[in-house]
Amino acid sequence: MLANQTGIGIYKILIVIFVAGLIFILTLPQVFNLNRREKTEKCISNMQEIKDQIKKYMRDRNELFTGTTNDLIRTRYITVVEEECPEGPAGSKYSITVDRKTRIIRIYCPNEKKFDDHVLVLDSADYCVQNIIMINEAINQYIIDKKSLFGGNLAVLVQEGYINEDHVKCPTGGEYEVIVDQGAKSFDVYCPNRFRLRDHIYQLPQEN
Ligand SMILES: [Zn+2]
Ligand SMILES: [Zn+2]
Repeated sequence: MLANQTGIGIYKILIVIFVAGLIFILTLPQVFNLNRREKTEKCISNMQEIKDQIKKYMRDRNELFTGTTNDLIRTRYITVVEEECPEGPAGSKYSITVDRKTRIIRIYCPNEKKFDDHVLVLDSADYCVQNIIMINEAINQYIIDKKSLFGGNLAVLVQEGYINEDHVKCPTGGEYEVIVDQGAKSFDVYCPNRFRLRDHIYQLPQEN
């Protein structure tokens, strides 16, 4: 009787082990995928953090950033933890480019070829700044062609083909404002959302 009970006990334990093993094997791909997705998300958030810190660096110092992640660590804008892709290998760094004219910052993951979703796409602030630059250039061209000052109405630029109407509105909505100083014969272009979205602003690059 006792031997029979032990036999059933072992049988039950074997079934439990078998079922647990089966569940483990079946969930393995999901665990692997989750792990991979988490790493992708972490990589993108690393790149976003580096980008935000470069913006802060350029605002603080009012100069173009031309360095590497090492320079950001040295100047304490980022910590070592944020400098590398979680897919490794240790020691491989993100690369950084900052366009001299647009000041648009691009960050590239060293594993981009292997993991094609490790990509930081342009955001609305980047597109907004590109629009502001295009409007600036369109107004300058208008002034040269007409040999007169620009009145400030963007619709005129669209009507006369100086700029496409897609570019006179911020990607987050609202038409750009042009403030003309007739006395100083100068003008400035502003995003209507600049008070809410502080990086929707274009600062002329300083020569250093
Ligand atoms: Zn990565
Ligand atoms: Zn904007």
